[in-house]
Amino acid sequence: MLTSSLLVTAIGRNDLKPHFATRQLDPAGLTARLLDWFAGNARDLPWRRTTSPYAIWVSEIMLQQTQVKTVIPYFERWMKALPGVRALAEADLDLVLKLWEGLGYYTRARNLQKAAQIIMRDHGGRFPENFEAVLALPGIGRYTAGAVCSIAFGQPTPILDGNVVRVLSRLFGVVTPAKEKRTVETLWGLAEALVRSVPESSSEFNQSLMELGATVCLPRQPLCGQCPVRELCFALREGKVESLPNVAAGPAATLRRVHAFVLETGGKFLLVRRPEGTVNGGLWEFPNIEVAPGSDPKASARGLFGVEPLSIELAHQVRHTITRYRITVDVFHVRTARRPKPAKPDAFQWTGRDGLESLAFPSAHRQIANRLLAGDSAKPRRRSQSA
Ligand code: SF4
Repeated sequence: MLTSSLLVTAIGRNDLKPHFATRQLDPAGLTARLLDWFAGNARDLPWRRTTSPYAIWVSEIMLQQTQVKTVIPYFERWMKALPGVRALAEADLDLVLKLWEGLGYYTRARNLQKAAQIIMRDHGGRFPENFEAVLALPGIGRYTAGAVCSIAFGQPTPILDGNVVRVLSRLFGVVTPAKEKRTVETLWGLAEALVRSVPESSSEFNQSLMELGATVCLPRQPLCGQCPVRELCFALREGKVESLPNVAAGPAATLRRVHAFVLETGGKFLLVRRPEGTVNGGLWEFPNIEVAPGSDPKASARGLFGVEPLSIELAHQVRHTITRYRITVDVFHVRTARRPKPAKPDAFQWTGRDGLESLAFPSAHRQIANRLLAGDSAKPRRRSQSA
């Protein structure tokens, strides 16, 4: 049972204390309400039908930066192809990346495999139960370790992701900037005090916070009328729902331009592999280069291929967003007098339709490949340059 003194310990800062409604709150009522609500309202999700730490870990990594409805088919494909730690540890990296294709942030997939290999080597293939051992695995931070240990093993380990930050900030009136260290520490303290107050229900309680943030306490226009803890909520009472958590506006969007080239000879397309250690490392792309607005695609092609292009035709454009970047990819069909030889022999390949289907591409290049597979390649929209 959570006491006020525990909460004050968790809060720990005089300038924050007035904003917490602990004196009016019945903390036990808060956790009980959330647990009751979760019991009746939890969505039926594939990773909630298991206590397998492997499955829960995979789902938590997939859910970072990605919505539940997007993750479900990825999770199901992944579990079918790689049903356990050993299968993941021993899988070909191309398969791992293919299963992840479209989820973005591919370091997550690579780290999953690295962690699986460490579990095989250091833990006999058994997912570790010790919080520190889980935290030591690649790609696992305090949130994911807390989620796996509480959901899979029933340990009272706290969680704090964007959803939980929003719920706790509104509920308890955490008004200091959400990114500041003192605020983060305060929120972790709150999450810990709460989950420790219901040690026998750690899994359900942590999931209730996640679920409330995902389905009711939404970033904009939260459904306060349906909220099981609305009578206890600082933000609702004080008219601060829209202003909490205290998050500064992000940096303005940056526009970027890329020239990408489809070079086909004898039914084969030239693809290049992104170097290890870079964003999307290990994935395949059509040869491309970032350019300044208005750049000459012929110069781009000459620089990429080292040979004079015979013709260049604009086929289509792909627009996509990565974090704050708004990227426009101009996709050209290019012909050259002879096959160019990229500098690193192991970093390119000529592939047919089978490769376009089976290899893993970043999302913009997957769109280019799909248009080629659909037969759009023969219909460039307009002629841009001709040699
Ligand atoms: Fe969020 Fe509204 Fe519930 Fe407060 S009452 S926790 S703002 S949904």
